Amino acid sequence: MKLYNTLTRQKGEFTPLKDDTVRIYSCGPTVYGYAHIGNMRTYVFMDFLRRTLQWNGYKLLHAMNITDVGHLVSDGDDGEDKMNKTAREQKKTPWEIAEYYTSVFLRDIERLNIQRPELVPKATMHIQEMIEFVQGLLKTGYAYETSDGIYYDIKKFKDYGRLSRMNFDENQAGARVEVNSEKRHPADFALWKKADPTHIMQWESPWGMGYPGWHIECSAMGLKYLGEEFDIHTGGVDHIPIHHENEIAQTCGLLGHPAAKWWIHGEFMLVDGGKMSKSLGNTYTLDQLQEKGYSPMVFRYFCLNAHYSQKLNFTFEGMDSAKKSLRNLKNQIKKHKGADGQVDEEVLATFISEFEEAINDDLNIPKALGVVWNMARYETKSNKLYDLIIRCDSILGIDLDKEDEEEPENTVDSDLDREIKEQIALRLEAKKAKNYAEADRIRNELAARGIILTDTKEGTTYTIK
Ligand code: AMP
Ligand code: ZN
Repeated sequence: MKLYNTLTRQKGEFTPLKDDTVRIYSCGPTVYGYAHIGNMRTYVFMDFLRRTLQWNGYKLLHAMNITDVGHLVSDGDDGEDKMNKTAREQKKTPWEIAEYYTSVFLRDIERLNIQRPELVPKATMHIQEMIEFVQGLLKTGYAYETSDGIYYDIKKFKDYGRLSRMNFDENQAGARVEVNSEKRHPADFALWKKADPTHIMQWESPWGMGYPGWHIECSAMGLKYLGEEFDIHTGGVDHIPIHHENEIAQTCGLLGHPAAKWWIHGEFMLVDGGKMSKSLGNTYTLDQLQEKGYSPMVFRYFCLNAHYSQKLNFTFEGMDSAKKSLRNLKNQIKKHKGADGQVDEEVLATFISEFEEAINDDLNIPKALGVVWNMARYETKSNKLYDLIIRCDSILGIDLDKEDEEEPENTVDSDLDREIKEQIALRLEAKKAKNYAEADRIRNELAARGIILTDTKEGTTYTIK
């Protein structure tokens, strides 16, 4: 099977490093809010990769982390920790926030038939491993201490910028004004931050109380669970220039070689041709799609239509046609179920080899879906074709063996409902205390998530856009 490697910018034949178990690391979600459908596209791509490897007879050892500390509001070293910020805003502990959004995430990937990776480690459970990693980098000379933390010295690592093909010396001229003058290079990044007493999440370390940088968690957990060398690392394309560049630098600094051989990145999902962002209110969740009448399987079908390396533009027209197509496909397939028409073995073999060729050509799922459509439309109706289609669905994962469901019910998740009601109550309290700025903040933040509040005589109600 062929895959495209971002590191070499080449498509090549994949073979596992050792035995027939493929070791994979995927950057998991930062659990400070609901994962949106863009995030989900990346995990659907990760799932196609898993399923295609399984189709080819490989076993999998796959780790996907849960980022519950360290990811700052920017992907670099600026701003507050995302967990800290949400905890402060929602008046909860970061651990409560993490637990809630992790469970919603895991439930959502299950609804999308995304196989759960064998290992789902949490960053906060691996602080010791991260500290040891940072100590190692200090020993090998790739890290240095400043008054506010431990930083990676990118000038020591000659391959820095290889993954993203960026020259950091050229970029230096245009770099933002540095807040931290102790850094040796503007692109040096934090491995460990010393915490001030107000920071909620902090741990003891050889450098006093503090918390890890974001990038170190993936290097430390990858090493712990997959070893010094593993086969594949995945993530979204936004991770190429910062997060993954830094992961490579960290591992090379400690071990003298990169950990992952293949780096595979999923392209972004756009909405109406533009960026998805909370401030534009277009970061839909699976629940919101469901409320609008699109089941998770319709969304998955929608994702099948673009190669993972291509941008995918989300529109509701696109979802409507995905919904229709999925229904039509199932109707066609139903005609084959139990049918006794005779189809040549040669025809069946051609179909399956076309399908396999597509998935093994760098996960060409849109082409593979086309082959399934050709099977479904085949004039002679035969249960042998039905069986073949269901076999192909072990890759597509769109429940082709299940009867089409009725229009999904308006199922506002009860947890979401509870959370919104809590926010409404907090807003009411703020209004009573004449803290109108806080009341507006709550309203605006909900609006940014598509949750619109309406004040009526009977109280405040909400609708989800
Ligand atoms: P985060 O929770 O921000 O760490 O993101 C989780 C995953 O979603 C990462 O692999 C990101 O690269 C990916 N991601 C974020 N936004 C999008 C998007 N609009 N389309 C596709 N993937 C995305
Ligand atoms: Zn990562």
